[in-house]
Amino acid sequence: MKFVVITLFPEILEALQLGVVGRAMQRQLLDVSCINPRDYTEDKNKTVDDSPFGGGPGMVMMAKPLHQAILAAKMKLPGARVIYLSPQGKQFNQALAKNAAEIKKGDLIMIAGRYEGIDQRIIDKCVDEEWSLGDYVISGGELAALVMIDAIARCIPGVVGDAGSVIDDSFYHGILKHPQYTRPESYNGWDVPKVLLSGNHREIARWRNKHSLGVTWLKRPDLLEETTRQKEAQILLNEFIEEYNQEPTRKKRHE
Ligand code: SAM
Repeated sequence: MKFVVITLFPEILEALQLGVVGRAMQRQLLDVSCINPRDYTEDKNKTVDDSPFGGGPGMVMMAKPLHQAILAAKMKLPGARVIYLSPQGKQFNQALAKNAAEIKKGDLIMIAGRYEGIDQRIIDKCVDEEWSLGDYVISGGELAALVMIDAIARCIPGVVGDAGSVIDDSFYHGILKHPQYTRPESYNGWDVPKVLLSGNHREIARWRNKHSLGVTWLKRPDLLEETTRQKEAQILLNEFIEEYNQEPTRKKRHE
């Protein structure tokens, strides 16, 4: 899968060269390149912004350099969808990441805005979708591009070495991941749940399912509605709630 990010700060996207996504790029499982609208200006100051018509604070990214940058991106990635990263867009989530990673969905051109945003005519005439990181405003779309490309990349087969770990991640199946522990078995008098040391894979899987449902119930009950329609899930969750209510000390997880 290929991404072109249209940005005034391509250096920020270099962070993708680290870690899991960086290794995937080396293995050519995905490709991320940048196009800078400044390269499509004609004045000696390479101006990309101007004050808003009608007055008001700040500057707006001008249509022409952005349009030229989009055309250049489309030459590189014909057929790619054009996404404007915007606080006004559709809230990005795991389902959107999974969906974007499907081969048939194709490549992505992402526009990272700066200043007060971009000239509306670009949104009206060139953008297919607007995606938001969340209901808050950050200074530029580059951090949104980093987050979204990373999340999409993890859903591309082969990017994460053990595919099981992606399927197991929070949100992949709509609920949160179960708690995890590693060595030592006991630290500071804090013990790992015995079942995880038992070697009984069936019981371990059951414990994990139950605690996935449990942490979702505790932290994000809004996610549960769909899952608890399944009878087995409801039984496991009821069991978790019963145990939880009998063991109030567990509420103090961070002591
Ligand atoms: N004035 C704009 C508004 O109120 O909608 C916000 C402009 S913001 C300072 C500059 C750029 O950061 C935007 O053009 C957008 O590309 C990016 N940005 C800001 N918040 C974002 C978010 N929550 N998700 C995605 N991109 C965001």
